[in-house]
Amino acid sequence: MAKQNKEWAVGIDLGTTYSCVAVWLEEHCRVEIIHNDQGNRTTPSSVAFTENQRLIGDAAKNQAAINPTNTIFDVKRLIGRRFSDPIIQDDLKLWSFKVIADSGDKPMIVVSYKGLEKHISAEEISSMILTKMREIAEAYLESQVKNVVVTVPAYFNDSQRQATKDAGTIAGLNVMRIINEPTAAALAYGLHKRANCVEERNIFIFDLGGGTFDVSLLTIKGDVFEVKATAGDTHLGGEDLDNRMVKYFVEEFKRKNKVDISRNPRALRRLRTACERAKRTLSYAVDTTIEVDALSESIDFCSSITRARFEELNMDLFKKCMDTVDRCLVDSKMEKSDVDDVVLVGGSSRIPKVQQLLRDFFKGKELCLSINPDEAVAYGAAVQAALLSKGNKYVPNLVLLDVTPLSLGISVKEDLMSVVIPKNTTIPVQKTKGYGRSEDFQSAVLIEVYEGERTRASDNNLLGFFNLYGDPYARRDHPLTVCFSIDADGILSVTAEEESSGSKNGITVTNDKGRLSTQQIMRLIQEAEKYKAEDQKYQKKVQAINALDDFVYKIRNAIEDVENSYKVHPQDKMKVNMAIAEARELLDASQQTETEVFVNHLNEVKSLIEPIMRIN
Ligand code: ADP
Ligand code: MG
Repeated sequence: MAKQNKEWAVGIDLGTTYSCVAVWLEEHCRVEIIHNDQGNRTTPSSVAFTENQRLIGDAAKNQAAINPTNTIFDVKRLIGRRFSDPIIQDDLKLWSFKVIADSGDKPMIVVSYKGLEKHISAEEISSMILTKMREIAEAYLESQVKNVVVTVPAYFNDSQRQATKDAGTIAGLNVMRIINEPTAAALAYGLHKRANCVEERNIFIFDLGGGTFDVSLLTIKGDVFEVKATAGDTHLGGEDLDNRMVKYFVEEFKRKNKVDISRNPRALRRLRTACERAKRTLSYAVDTTIEVDALSESIDFCSSITRARFEELNMDLFKKCMDTVDRCLVDSKMEKSDVDDVVLVGGSSRIPKVQQLLRDFFKGKELCLSINPDEAVAYGAAVQAALLSKGNKYVPNLVLLDVTPLSLGISVKEDLMSVVIPKNTTIPVQKTKGYGRSEDFQSAVLIEVYEGERTRASDNNLLGFFNLYGDPYARRDHPLTVCFSIDADGILSVTAEEESSGSKNGITVTNDKGRLSTQQIMRLIQEAEKYKAEDQKYQKKVQAINALDDFVYKIRNAIEDVENSYKVHPQDKMKVNMAIAEARELLDASQQTETEVFVNHLNEVKSLIEPIMRIN
């Protein structure tokens, strides 16, 4: 406990399917990946709600099949998006839990907790996962953890980054920095390579996870890690491959048994788990079987799938990955042959077809498999946390130069997108651009901020807008300047100014709809405390129930023991048996019984038993 006040440098990889936490151990000058209470080094990004309690991580995932509508996963696919987003509409069909839109088109997850219906945002679920990761670290370090670095896919846009930061705030964490996952992986990889790399090395990071796909091209020279280009798809990963397999078997089941399970959440959940397992097997075997007992209407399902069929089902997705690889290379203005190392990250990068396509793309180049694809991102995040923490003397003196993934600009005449900061610009960055007005005598000039690569502004993603109230008598083309700045987290603020009138206005892009307000965040922080208190209360109750159950079990064994029973006076024996019966009654009605009742009863039984017999 001597470490109470130490400020640990902790990195959290908040993944779509699995999360991972790591810490920089200063005295050993290295990173440690921290295992959870189940001994696992990654923790499922799942949260479940039941009649009695909330479960996070392995405990949530393990009960998913019996509680499909209240077991939440995949929220990273929802975070920072609108409900009406076609991507979300598509996902809805495959999720076993319910999602609705609130009045601002923000997706809200509907769960039943302790018998009540609750609407929960993606930020809130993410904050629960972050809290779990924090607790894992705190248990290992025997100390409080507050300062963390959290990773996001490089291709996350402004609102997705902001929402992730909000999740950290709700979890009571100080998110020192949001960094890009492939960049974090490069830090992990480069830390080893750097030692013997005086010359420049170009590293291509290929990160195919559960829900997102990211690639980045970095140059490492000495201590400087510079991202040259990044590309990706925030909606492509192992789960899409699972979905294809689920669809395939749903069809097969329908054909064979004339039963459609596509609207049966429990059956879908169980089939999905089996498919994911089969997919993993196909990474080392050429075929595998799938078995689910009583999948629907007590019909057992048993089938098989070959690696070739699996590849065929997903070929378009694999090709999509390769197109993204190509785009990143084009953006970085490098040739394939300029790339020194191709590094694989993310669980799905283990798929043989993916590796083969990548090897072919880089003209037969051997891929680097030396880093752990599940842990590299958290590893790098911990290094970055150490770099940002004061007083961490033994951290290598690295410099990280990341880029913004999307072009940012405003809409001008005829709905044209005028780019202020082009994609792949090194951040942090500030850029100013001069504009005119569109008409004479405008009392307010509307500034609409967009991100994306399309020529027409409205085809891009509207991040926010504001009015500049300038000189009402000004003619069109009267000058005003617009300034964009992106901080080290990749978060954007925009200001506009009219020098002649001195008028100025701006926004930190808060994404009008969808983003949580400060008040909402405050409320959610309080709710998080409430959840925590409820979890602890439930834990206490379980402990009290177990203690009573355990004690009663022991006395019953003791009293039934022939040798003992001779020694006990028949009247005492009756008393003991009555106490046991009473305890059993309480235990059978444990739901309705308060914790104190169990504790008190245990004490009563203990004092009753003490003069009669000894229980160890
Ligand atoms: P994320 O960071 O998005 O949570 P991860 O990098 O942890 O994702 O990868 C999880 C994904 O990797 C899951 O979809 C899982 O099914 C897949 N995966 C893990 N191991 C293998 C394997 N051996 N073969 C194929 N896919 C795998
Ligand atoms: Mg990941």
